[in-house]
Amino acid sequence: MIDVVIRGGTLVTPSGQRRADLAIEDGRIREISAEIPGGREEIDATGQLVLPGVIDVHLHFNEPGRTEWEGAATGSRALAAGGGTLFFDMPLNSTPCTVNAPAFDRKRAALEASSITDFGLWGGLVPGSVADMAEMAARGVVGFKAFMCNSGLPEFPRADDVTLLDGLREAARLKLPVAVHAESEELTRGLGARLTSRTVRAFLESRPVVAELEAIQRALLLAKEAGASLHIVHVSCGRGVALAAEARAQGTDVSIETCPHYLFFTEGDVERLGPIAKCAPPLRAAGDRDGLWGELGRGRVHIVASDHSPALPSMKSGDFIAAWGGIAGVQSTLAVLLEEGYHKRALPLERISTLVAAEPARRFRIRGKGSIEPGMDADLALVDLNRSVTLAAGDLHQRHPLTPYVGYAFRGAVCRTIRRGVTIFHDGRITATQGGTLIRPS
Ligand SMILES: [Zn+2]
Repeated sequence: MIDVVIRGGTLVTPSGQRRADLAIEDGRIREISAEIPGGREEIDATGQLVLPGVIDVHLHFNEPGRTEWEGAATGSRALAAGGGTLFFDMPLNSTPCTVNAPAFDRKRAALEASSITDFGLWGGLVPGSVADMAEMAARGVVGFKAFMCNSGLPEFPRADDVTLLDGLREAARLKLPVAVHAESEELTRGLGARLTSRTVRAFLESRPVVAELEAIQRALLLAKEAGASLHIVHVSCGRGVALAAEARAQGTDVSIETCPHYLFFTEGDVERLGPIAKCAPPLRAAGDRDGLWGELGRGRVHIVASDHSPALPSMKSGDFIAAWGGIAGVQSTLAVLLEEGYHKRALPLERISTLVAAEPARRFRIRGKGSIEPGMDADLALVDLNRSVTLAAGDLHQRHPLTPYVGYAFRGAVCRTIRRGVTIFHDGRITATQGGTLIRPS
């Protein structure tokens, strides 16, 4: 017998939107058709969209070791409340950092015990970890993450160019992508040393667009030389996307990620909001934000991910220069894309679904996820596209309710999130404990 039937929703599928019933059996999509009889559980989705669950390829849940900052229990609940069913955890901000196989095993065990969504793990590319990459690949990492500038954590040092080139070559051999945080160490360190005040403006001037462009350019060159797949995380401006897109047109295997906050906020907002909106690269001028939307509309941005990077409340207040750089917005990715993309800029729903589900699954070779088709995992987000919700701190499921999105209205409310056939979020409430499992590239 069929386990669940979702009735009357508008499915956003790879071949377009379709009003149909959807049957789930053993956690997978069994059938899609005009009318499906029976079902142990019936879900009425009349008037709702049925989207593939969000796959957030970039976030920091800090477990094990820094669960007082977030943790996978709270973090995965927040992801689920935003329509998410799978995340890839970055190798840093946990202790230990995921830079070898034993650290991978510890994080896997911790996340399996606490996450309500599925998860994949990034491995770390730091000086000295190249020799551990093969073992991390055998464990199932989705790729390797490197910082081209200071990461902010001494235990995760930046990859100098030699480490980066060696790591790219090893990753190419292992057929896995390398993700880079692309900001120039030379420029950010040198300009940072020149700070004459501790204001937001001074910080912004110490991390200019050119520092990002220089690092993107260098990463592209090294990746091409190594024959590696490159994933550039959190590109903050249209000019960065254009640079990578040119290299891609010339044959470099590069994918481009941006984050909701670069699409939503500008540097004026960080001056107004203070440390809660501090991140690196920083929020940019309106022209750069608009350039990013232009590139996204042209299809040259491939993935949107949250880069949820929480910290203790004490680290997100006070002196701006000393404050933690990281925006904690894991719950708002889909909301931002629906409000700012679909409603305000006529970005098609199929495009949004591709940015947060289909392309993450394709780029990182996650079989069985990322789209609504028979045989795929039943990872779904049911959304009321026209219901407007003004985000309140009390709506947040993350550990510390600190996000710059509080107080903004978003049209497009997640009503229910389903992970492999199980409802994990419904009408504002989390309805699962645990159940998340490690997902590996195929
Ligand atoms: Zn990050």
